[in-house]
Amino acid sequence: MVLLDGKKTANDIKEEIALEVSSLIENGQKKPHLAAILVGNDGASETYIHAKVKACHKVGFESTLIRLDNSVSESELLSEIKKINNNSDINGLIVQLPLPDHIDEMKITQAINPQKDVDGFHPENIGRMVLNIPTYLPATPAGILELLQRYNVVTSGKHCVVIGRSHIVGSPISILMARNTNVGNCTVTLTHSRTENLKEITKTADILIVALGKAEFVTEDMIKDGVCIIDVGITRVKSTVTKSGWKLLGDVSFEEVKDRCSFITPVPGGVGPMTIAMLLKNTLKSAKKMIY
Ligand code: NAD
Repeated sequence: MVLLDGKKTANDIKEEIALEVSSLIENGQKKPHLAAILVGNDGASETYIHAKVKACHKVGFESTLIRLDNSVSESELLSEIKKINNNSDINGLIVQLPLPDHIDEMKITQAINPQKDVDGFHPENIGRMVLNIPTYLPATPAGILELLQRYNVVTSGKHCVVIGRSHIVGSPISILMARNTNVGNCTVTLTHSRTENLKEITKTADILIVALGKAEFVTEDMIKDGVCIIDVGITRVKSTVTKSGWKLLGDVSFEEVKDRCSFITPVPGGVGPMTIAMLLKNTLKSAKKMIY
């Protein structure tokens, strides 16, 4: 079994980005600049946003974190987005999800200038992805592709089964794995909460991408020997062992399945760090005007 080490790979990518930033600066250009908006103080969102800000500093980007109270109105949030859209010093903008119930997430996603949409969630960028036009790919699916590519996992002609059909992971990765590209050319089956006989389907997977948010859902009886497993899930559970009092679990029972896999991502240290690395890569692409 080969561990798909997202932490190490993400660090390699960050070093590559840092070199590019140095050469931009040497050529008299500005540092890439990522702005992030955080609404409220949800613990998991705080953790993710701080990891993103820290990663910006590590590669030499400028970053701006805008914190808004949980009670902020939708129109106030929209006007913050407008200000950043119009600020030519800022290359990328992300709004940390989830948002409070009184704010329409889709409206917010659509308010971000597609040229600064480094999360790749705007309908224009999703459309470009589907049509195979250069775009900002959504960061988590892009991270999965990058891991598969860097570890030379063969995808062409393979059966890829995806569990979960969210807008940010399951749906886009199912499209990307089916594209006629180097990582791609799979026959893809997208499964979800209404899928019947899930186990019969997952047992036929050569590549199994799991993104449903249920800790240790995939067990040994659901896979075939030699499968490559990408575990996207992150669930926080209480722990008496860790200093923080909690630990992270994936959607796959890692210990149960690991010896039967050809490749597998750990949680933590798999897809999570890759997501952040891809966000940085998209921001660099924006600064270099590589997409628009
Ligand atoms: P989501 O919560 O929006 O949707 C879950 C999906 O799982 C739905 O499409 C649903 O149909 C499907 N599902 C639920 N129960 C099922 C079942 N019993 N059988 C089959 N399918 C079922 O999903 P999301 O936002 O993609 O998040 C999924 C997980 O991935 C979460 O744990 C989240 O924290 C994690 N995540 C991790 C990263 C990362 O960078 N590692 C990024 C995004 C999400």
